[in-house]
Amino acid sequence: STTIGKIFDLTVKKFPNKEALYDERRNARFTFLQWNERVHSLANALLADGVKKGDRVSTYLYNNEELATAFFACAKIGAVFNPINFRLMAEELAYILSDAKPKVVLFEEALKPAVADIEQRFPEIGFWFIDENTPSFAANYHEKTAAAAQTEIKADIEETDLYAIMYTSGTTGRPKGVMHKHRDMVEQSMLLINGCKWGSSDVGLITAPMFHCAELHCTFLPRVHVGAKNVILHQFNPKKALQVIESEGITKFFAAPTMWNMLLQENLDDYNIKSLKLGLYGAAPMAPALVKACQEKLGISLVQAYGMTEMGPAITLLSEEDQIRKAGSAGQACLNHEIVIARPREDGPSDPDDLMPAGQNGEILVKGPCMMSGYFGREEANEKALYKGWYHSGDIGYLDEDGYLWVKDRVDDMIISGGENVYPREVEDTLYEHDGVLDCAVLGQPDDHWGETVTAFIVAKDSSLTEGELEEWCKNSKTLANYKRPRKYIFCDELPRNASGKIQKFMLRKQLQDMFSV
Ligand code: AMP
Ligand code: MG
Repeated sequence: STTIGKIFDLTVKKFPNKEALYDERRNARFTFLQWNERVHSLANALLADGVKKGDRVSTYLYNNEELATAFFACAKIGAVFNPINFRLMAEELAYILSDAKPKVVLFEEALKPAVADIEQRFPEIGFWFIDENTPSFAANYHEKTAAAAQTEIKADIEETDLYAIMYTSGTTGRPKGVMHKHRDMVEQSMLLINGCKWGSSDVGLITAPMFHCAELHCTFLPRVHVGAKNVILHQFNPKKALQVIESEGITKFFAAPTMWNMLLQENLDDYNIKSLKLGLYGAAPMAPALVKACQEKLGISLVQAYGMTEMGPAITLLSEEDQIRKAGSAGQACLNHEIVIARPREDGPSDPDDLMPAGQNGEILVKGPCMMSGYFGREEANEKALYKGWYHSGDIGYLDEDGYLWVKDRVDDMIISGGENVYPREVEDTLYEHDGVLDCAVLGQPDDHWGETVTAFIVAKDSSLTEGELEEWCKNSKTLANYKRPRKYIFCDELPRNASGKIQKFMLRKQLQDMFSV
């Protein structure tokens, strides 16, 4: 059966001497054949250390060649790949390690302090330090690997075997490990090759975090699949991204909405970005005003992906051709995906047999070939999330008459003010259209009279923007009914976001509580 390891092998055979990877921080380049040797080195070192099929191998790394190599090394020996968010602190890391119970953790210099804090609590785990520049600290990895580079891996991996456990950001409760099989990712890769028209002559930029499925599954894997080159930036940095677009001739890449926004704030005239053809966006809502600004200022086509880690992630795509005609929608369901809109329930998961009338908002439920096998060791959560065989997204939206999905907001973020539903995203989209607004977040503030009132956090482009001006703007917008208009504006320097670019509303909610409680 077709596995991730097989996809890699086929590409290596097809394009042995083509450049496969450029790791910008290390200024290191690898052809597919050279990369294959790195993959074999690591795979054989893991095998020599006793890692077996089904054992977990965690990475706690920034974006780099080592992470890219670990992805395929694990796939080849049937180890379950567990990429951990490099922004997590020692205790958060410890939680994931105690949940996933890996055999080995691969980590690097910059993340050594967090590892040092907790290492002694996990004597059964091998912590492998894999930075080439400081070999004195290197554990067993490099000594073991030199000879192994040429040794082919023989392992019996099926497409139905687990390929990864990926921890969701967990805005509510502890992070949960999403389990995916090889087949989920082979299917996902095909969908994205089709949706972004990836081909071997493409040069892709990796600048969003690779531990997150948006970058890993929607761009990195499909590019390897077709033999395209991956250029890896250690972390997102708008100036560096623009420099590399110019120097490496990047053709297509993914960025989360907040990253697009930061790119647009740069002086674009300083760079030659003519090679750039297409941008993929998603992982969080992107205001139509920002989509339009990307098209106009960068002169590129755009494709939107909507989805979630649990689904592989993409479940809908909004194609290049639909960007204007269906602006604001998340697009059509991907091949072999089914979407229904169910009536939300207070007392349990919504029922796929109790659907909303056409065109009305409800919870987005989805089924498809890339669906997770479940959360690792979480029976109760699985019963709810996968109730009656549908994944319950926790997102609100509707399907229009053409079958396009419109994502309104998270079920939990909806504001109910004076008995009326307000979707924060609608209000945010309107505020974004104001030239003076760089970033914003809207949420409900508990209120004795109204239940909740609409409150907006605003990051202004400069200090000249006033509350009165925004109030006028919303009044004149013709997109916001009176009850949807913010009753309070809070100006701030920055909004809290997680690594995949989602605003952490729970932190803003806490801030509101602290500000207004006595
Ligand atoms: P994660 O599993 O961390 O990628 O988070 C998935 C969640 O991100 C979804 O349930 C949505 O709430 C949000 N999301 C992802 N893509 C989009 C998109 N294109 N538009 C709006 N929200 C999105
Ligand atoms: Mg989620």
